[in-house]
Amino acid sequence: MRIHRLILLILIACACLQEVPAQNKRIVIAASTILDGQGHVLRNKRIVVEGSKIVAIDPKAGPVDYDLRGLTVLPGWIDAHAHITWSFGRDGKNVGAGETSQDAAYRSAANAWATLIAGFTTIQSLGSPTDLPLRDAIAKGQLAGPRILTAVEPLVGRGERTGSLDEIRAFVRKQKEAGADVIKIFASQSIRQGGGMTLSPDQLNAACDEARKQGLRAVVHAYKDAVRVATLAGCTQIEHGTMATDEALQLMAQKGTYLDPQAGLVIENYLLNKQKYLGTPGYTEEGFAAMEKILPLNHQLVQRAIKTPGLKVVFGTDAVAGSHGRNAEEFIDRVRDGGVDPMAAMISANSLGAEALGMSDQIGSIAAGLQADIIALDGDPLKDITAVRRVVFVMKGGVVYKNTGK
Ligand SMILES: [Zn+2]
Repeated sequence: MRIHRLILLILIACACLQEVPAQNKRIVIAASTILDGQGHVLRNKRIVVEGSKIVAIDPKAGPVDYDLRGLTVLPGWIDAHAHITWSFGRDGKNVGAGETSQDAAYRSAANAWATLIAGFTTIQSLGSPTDLPLRDAIAKGQLAGPRILTAVEPLVGRGERTGSLDEIRAFVRKQKEAGADVIKIFASQSIRQGGGMTLSPDQLNAACDEARKQGLRAVVHAYKDAVRVATLAGCTQIEHGTMATDEALQLMAQKGTYLDPQAGLVIENYLLNKQKYLGTPGYTEEGFAAMEKILPLNHQLVQRAIKTPGLKVVFGTDAVAGSHGRNAEEFIDRVRDGGVDPMAAMISANSLGAEALGMSDQIGSIAAGLQADIIALDGDPLKDITAVRRVVFVMKGGVVYKNTGK
């Protein structure tokens, strides 16, 4: 009995140790095909990892710890727009991020785990105050999940009732003090309610200018004309962008404003889970009817965006309850319905996604000096985009969370 208990203890100890990379522990990964995240395909290389970082790409390194030959190896994906704490409550209905029970906290942790093992090693959550403890627990290595950047509480445009320009600036500073990594601004109504502008140009200027002064990026939920106005206000990134004019897209390209459109997953997920959303705040029958009409407009937006020279299109899913762990479906939508080149789709969630977060020197590429965020797919997404569903290996910061092989 004692020996059995001892073995059990050793097994538990080993399981725990695997979660914490020993300082400078060296790991060698063999790969036959690497998409480096910047548009290059590398053949027959070995990736050398020490601690949390990639230290070399060396075809001769050894001994090999993980043999990923026959798979497609690429940097962990970045989702620029998720709502990691949104979940369905005990009654099965959408509670968004509005519940702070122990149940809801566990559901958030489960969302984080599902997202990580689906290949997403970094997400930007736009946003909820409940993101903060989850972000911090993951950052400390206490919970398994993607690296999280959060907007904490978004600035919701309500016309004049939003507040004076000074009050808007104070709101932005308050988010920074609360620990925000980014500022989220709603400058349009929900598209389910028509998508009209909810902030004046002056209000948007104040919000995005204050974010910049605080050293934070400002990402703006915008449809139709709000896209142009937010771009002129110098905001960093446009979320959604449905019904933006070609001129607005060209203006974004000129000003270097990032676009994060959603080709499918978010609406498909709402339609799939209609009964779980219907009747919860913001979700009506009329809204669902509107969403069915908007889906083809979103396909068109992506098609127009990729034809706009110089426009930087990043990958974001707007993952809500029901989507966590299925984020990669958006790649399939973008390629199939939006006409996006599969390599461009991968870059949008790798190096370009990292650039949009201001984190190119840390994530988004397989290169020496960067975080060892490495995933492998069973299949080649350049030939068959559905390979993004078959994530068989996930390493984040040098720690392996999934390794199920072919
Ligand atoms: Zn959202």
